Amino acid sequence: MAGSKMVMEGTFARIVSMPVTGQPELPTFATVRAMIEKYASTLRPTRAERVSLEDALGRVLAKSIAADRDLPPFPRSARDGFAVRVGDLRDTSISLKVIGELKAGDDAGRFFVGEGECVSIMTGAAVPEGANAVVMVEYATQAGGFVSFQRGAEAGENIVPRGSEARAGQELVAKGMRIGHAVIAAAATVGQTELTVYCRPTVAILATGDELVPIDAAPGPYQIRNSNSFSLAAQVRAAGGSPSILPTAPDDPVRLRELIAEGLQSDLLLLSGGVSMGKYDIVENVLEEFGVRFLFTGALIQPGKPVVFGESEMDGGHRARVFGLPGNPVSTMVTFELFVRPVLESLAGRPMRTLRFTQAKLAEDLRTKPGLTRFLPARLNGEAGTVQVERLNWQGSGDIVTVVQASCYIVVPPDRELIAAGEMVSILIPGADL
Ligand code: AMP
Ligand code: MG
Repeated sequence: MAGSKMVMEGTFARIVSMPVTGQPELPTFATVRAMIEKYASTLRPTRAERVSLEDALGRVLAKSIAADRDLPPFPRSARDGFAVRVGDLRDTSISLKVIGELKAGDDAGRFFVGEGECVSIMTGAAVPEGANAVVMVEYATQAGGFVSFQRGAEAGENIVPRGSEARAGQELVAKGMRIGHAVIAAAATVGQTELTVYCRPTVAILATGDELVPIDAAPGPYQIRNSNSFSLAAQVRAAGGSPSILPTAPDDPVRLRELIAEGLQSDLLLLSGGVSMGKYDIVENVLEEFGVRFLFTGALIQPGKPVVFGESEMDGGHRARVFGLPGNPVSTMVTFELFVRPVLESLAGRPMRTLRFTQAKLAEDLRTKPGLTRFLPARLNGEAGTVQVERLNWQGSGDIVTVVQASCYIVVPPDRELIAAGEMVSILIPGADL
């Protein structure tokens, strides 16, 4: 029987295959994912820059955002209504005298609400002193200068107390947070016109294969256009990296070597194709020539089994990291999500997160051969609460046409041959923050 053992080399826990039967034994998906998470957790971004708030979307915060004053800065009315003293409403047959009106932005210091009095108040206005509740206008009837109320009020009702969201100086957004529109709102609220963000890690993308032609060329009958470089660039961008597409490499060691040397100058190099067992799959050998130490060379998954990852110390101390992703377009996409994303996100400054799958109800019976963790293109259907996941009928990991229709992948554990309709299954939603 073939065997394998785990050899620890610092953070490099390397699975060493010890084939006896000819077929090298590969680590499971769980093992490889644990290795890459451990590796990614050691990575940090090295550079930061200032960007304007308008340009900050999708970047990662390198300096936390703090409140410059209490939030809200005054007790804020959450409704249109009347600022009242709760005690005055114990007897709802009594009308209160309206002593004035406050809209958002008005100086509430103009009023003190005394016994038997109230102030007409709008959403967002400061609640004047003396009042301790706001009764919604829907429960009030105004006649002349007086208001009567259909119901009483509880102390604090419809008032957001000063400083209840944050105190002056308090951290609102921690560094390492990806900047979405809510973070932009927080930054704008505290007057930050610029933010300090980590520089995007540079990612070189190198597609390999004699059959590939550029996308603006007319392919010969047996040639195909290089789509992987473009899907990878999109995934890189979405994960916070800055992609650069290198010229396509033929399956020839000399030119491949030149382009790999160039790609290794980036923070991360992503190769596609040339890592399978075929005669022209030479990527691994060429990487070894660059002193790349592999963390793993293959995983028991489908698609994506031949995926490799390693790193190399380059001249000048630059640490190069490189993935060899299988060339089949869906394999390339899936292996990016599973293994490249955590490395890239860590280099981009986001805290390492363990992979979490979400769950959905399987629409139809699903049969697969056991042994591999499978990621099957699928679509979520139905209303909230009754969401079902439906496997798409695909032509295998080269099938871009079907994967376009997919919104997720069903994750089939390696020990399942049949999953029955109605069972909850794990699903992977690319890019989802769970
Ligand atoms: P490989 O991993 O090199 O054995 O390639 C596996 C399959 O993916 C083959 O059918 C290739 O033609 C195809 N393929 C490889 N690279 C690309 C690419 N950059 N764009 C589209 N398809 C590719
Ligand atoms: Mg190839």
